Amino acid sequence: MGERLSISFEGAARTVTGSRHRLRFGTRSWLFDCGLYQGHRDEAERVNRTFRFDPASLTGVVVSHAHLDHTGNLPSVVSRGYRGDIHATPATADLARVMLPDSAFLMQRDVEHVNRHARGRPPRVPLYTTAAVEETLARMAKHDYHEPWPLDDRVSVTYYDAGHILGSALTTFEFKSGARGFRLGMSGDLGRPARRILRDPEVHPGVDALVMESTYGDRLHSEAVATERELAEIVTRTAARGGRLLVPAFAVGRTQELVASLHALIERGAAPDLPIFVDSPLAREATGVFRMHSECFDDETRQAFEAENGAPFGFRRLRYVGSADESRALNDRAGPCIIISASGMCEGGRILHHLRHGLGDARNTVLFVGFQGEGTLGRRLKEGATTVNILGEAVMRRAEVAALDGYSAHADRRELLDWAGSLKPRPRTVFLVHGEPGPMEVLASALRERLGVTVHTPSLGQEFELWN
Ligand SMILES: [Zn+2]
Repeated sequence: MGERLSISFEGAARTVTGSRHRLRFGTRSWLFDCGLYQGHRDEAERVNRTFRFDPASLTGVVVSHAHLDHTGNLPSVVSRGYRGDIHATPATADLARVMLPDSAFLMQRDVEHVNRHARGRPPRVPLYTTAAVEETLARMAKHDYHEPWPLDDRVSVTYYDAGHILGSALTTFEFKSGARGFRLGMSGDLGRPARRILRDPEVHPGVDALVMESTYGDRLHSEAVATERELAEIVTRTAARGGRLLVPAFAVGRTQELVASLHALIERGAAPDLPIFVDSPLAREATGVFRMHSECFDDETRQAFEAENGAPFGFRRLRYVGSADESRALNDRAGPCIIISASGMCEGGRILHHLRHGLGDARNTVLFVGFQGEGTLGRRLKEGATTVNILGEAVMRRAEVAALDGYSAHADRRELLDWAGSLKPRPRTVFLVHGEPGPMEVLASALRERLGVTVHTPSLGQEFELWN
């Protein structure tokens, strides 16, 4: 008998947010990802503040990528006494430098807003402070893709490219007990092949068990080429009307990918040569991190980046808007243009004043390129609302509304199945996480049928023995 290896699912269990999994091997334990649970305020508060184990007792923390639903609750672990390293790829650690302070800032602002309307309720405090973020960032240890590093004297870890966002990783853990070994693969969020900027997802080398995401386990996305063709058509018809194209987009990943697409389309004459404004301070900072990490680019992007002095992130028709005054000044600008701004679901940020100003003009187009959560302004617009409330003002919509689903950073059903099918040898057991129950069950059945593997869909807190 060796030491017992187990995994417990502490987050993103039958849901798509708040990724958090705990590995235990003998007397030691590690946390894999520690994301924010994003949802209604009170529920999110409760989930994000609850740990079913003492974070101070962890031997280590390993993260897959920088999205906040995978890293956004790391400062809570540190503020509860964790004093070890937080392992990440170099690009993930650098993106966290931009994203975690922004997260702390937004929490502080939200708490101030809630407390102003508290009416006698006890004041809230933010989940964590900027000081906790600073300490979290100081604990980051960077590891390149493909280079195994020792997590412990009997555990080694290797990152492979997940092709999801800059720096995103597939993580392989190798546990040793005497002459025997056990390999566990964690997909993190899995990207898609043939996208701009990033390389295609790699696959884990042979693993005994696999933990895999299932966000789009029941859906197919449009092909990349078809998506860009549609984007070109939207830009062309908006320009022909003399209008502006307003794109609410997530600042990290989606904005850069869209800019790369527009650059390519304009360069080959498939779309009119319009000025493009990226109006989001976070997007500007995140793009700075992209520029530092050309090692993560696919060949085409790296060649363009080197040959054209920073293109596709800084070409002559692209402007990064700095101050709020500069942002407002865009309202007075004449002629067609493209404005990409956050937040992606129109729940805050500078996109709101662009919408308030531009939604009433039938020449304009609002283009959605990401998922729009229930109850958000983005969702109402995408579903065809003709009057919406923006910053306390009722606004009539006359602008065209368009949507592209091909910019998703998550593999779709076919891509998930192809990817899992290419693992050699096949894992004996697959655990599905990071999905709503519906898509997860559809994917689970398909995996059982096609690969003949045992598939579990763990519930929150469920623990499985992997090896002993
Ligand atoms: Zn992600």
